[in-house]
Amino acid sequence: LTGTYDPDNIFARILRGEVPSVTVWEDDHVLAFMDVFPQSEGHVLVISKTSTARNLLEIEAEVLTRLMAAVQRTARAVERALSPDGLSVMQFNGEAGGQTVFHLHVHIIPRWADRPMDG
Ligand code: 5GP
Repeated sequence: LTGTYDPDNIFARILRGEVPSVTVWEDDHVLAFMDVFPQSEGHVLVISKTSTARNLLEIEAEVLTRLMAAVQRTARAVERALSPDGLSVMQFNGEAGGQTVFHLHVHIIPRWADRPMDG
């Protein structure tokens, strides 16, 4: 988990408006947006707009609190909109931990009992 924050990572570019994204919910602190390579219908990512933490180890506790409140709010919206049978909430740290974009993010992935998991 060595290294430093790359200000040109794809989520930083989304936050600057340089790359388009589909917003699900946002406020001054947090952005929830659709994953472009969804693992299921309704796969959403939630990120901090203010923190340059790459991962869970780096994020400030207050920012994490806001982020997780937004994760819960977004999960409830996904539940209302899509009525999944389950919701996987996932977060990866470091390349060896499965992370590919190094701006801390939380995945919300709706699951259905009769649909295979493809990720
Ligand atoms: P990680 O493995 O780092 O937790 O997941 C990164 C996620 O970002 C992946 O699910 C991937 O599909 C998503 N992603 C990568 N590039 C883009 C992009 O340009 N736009 C959006 N909306 N999602 C992206």
